Amino acid sequence: MKVKKLMLGKGNSWATPYYIATGEQEGPHVMVVAGIHGNEIASIRAAEKLVKLLNQQKLQISQGKLIIVPIVNQVAYRKRIRGVPDLNRTFPRKKKQAASNPLSAAVFQLILKHTPEWYLDLHEANGLSQKDAKVLGQTLISDQGNPVVPAVRRTIKRMNHSIKSKDRHFNIRLHELPGSSRTAASRILGARAVTVETGWSLPKQVRIRYQLKIVQHLLREAGLTI
Ligand SMILES: [Zn+2]
Repeated sequence: MKVKKLMLGKGNSWATPYYIATGEQEGPHVMVVAGIHGNEIASIRAAEKLVKLLNQQKLQISQGKLIIVPIVNQVAYRKRIRGVPDLNRTFPRKKKQAASNPLSAAVFQLILKHTPEWYLDLHEANGLSQKDAKVLGQTLISDQGNPVVPAVRRTIKRMNHSIKSKDRHFNIRLHELPGSSRTAASRILGARAVTVETGWSLPKQVRIRYQLKIVQHLLREAGLTI
């Protein structure tokens, strides 16, 4: 299995590397992005770790293709800020609509190029969903009616089974967020699209571990890994 390093938006101030791991056989395409918000460090570190595991052959793709963009918003990441404008409101809201920002347009072009059946967007959020149903920390989010919902429920079950502290348990949220990359991938490509949100208040290493574990569960659900 080979991992190719490529550059998105070469020559621009916002240019960012991305990686493609290809299995021996044809199969589903999965795209994993992190750092749409530049200050959500655990999601970025988890995506980088994923690339590292692939490069070290500690994680093998048995079939299909895995596309990873570990730090979408390099400019925001360098300043450790969420980003202005909020990139996750600038993706196309319907077919044939353009993204309203050059960086999200480039990311969406990459999505269209590889037509992923699965799209995983890694984020971080405030609070713990187990203690407060209104917050997004420790949730997996998808759009209502998205075919990924059963796989998300199984993933949450597996995660929570391994998390001793009930306060840290994950919950599912189902809603559309027009302008987000997840809802764009869901509405426009019909992708199985999931947003992962770990809770800021937890230790960084724990958040990174949760992010990576969730992605690995979903890669297995997608049939990319055994
Ligand atoms: Zn975010």
